[in-house]
Amino acid sequence: MAAPIARLIDELHKLPGIGPKTAQRLTYHLIRMPQEEARTLAEAILAVKEKVTFCSTCQNITDVNPCMVCAAQDRDKGLICVVEEPLDVMALERTRAYKGLYHVLHGVISPINGTGPDDLKIGELLGRMKGSVVHEVILAMNPNLEGEATAMYLHRLLSPLGVKVTRLARGLPVGGDLEYADAMTLTRALEGRREA
Ligand code: ZN
Repeated sequence: MAAPIARLIDELHKLPGIGPKTAQRLTYHLIRMPQEEARTLAEAILAVKEKVTFCSTCQNITDVNPCMVCAAQDRDKGLICVVEEPLDVMALERTRAYKGLYHVLHGVISPINGTGPDDLKIGELLGRMKGSVVHEVILAMNPNLEGEATAMYLHRLLSPLGVKVTRLARGLPVGGDLEYADAMTLTRALEGRREA
């Protein structure tokens, strides 16, 4: 096999969910692609790496720092909703019902995957509590074992700080991810949140 082909297969294989067979298929697809299309794809990959960064406050992905939510004047700065992934922020924003700020952990505590608290943006979350106006933290982890364990861990850290800690109401499909919940279900889960 020509070296450039082997190299591309190798690189694609490193992506999540891409096995060796899929990496080969994608590579042969890319080889047949018009030059211009391939260039557009390569440039899109470089552009996200160059222009997209993490908000230094909420850790969400953004192309401006602080991000648009953290910088907005009409958001409730006293309310922080903690989520696992940037996609969860998008899902909650789609409801148009939430007017507070966010904090993105970038994962959950998962001993099986070797992810511990130190691998998540938990220190950054605690940093936001210091001398701040935050009066409530909503733990909006996915309704599964790892989400539950992460929420319990955060609850233990946050409650001694004198901040109200709440959880989303039950009603999200168990095992289902927040990002797939429809706006109505998410709005109801937010409105029915209860003290943890
Ligand atoms: Zn932000």
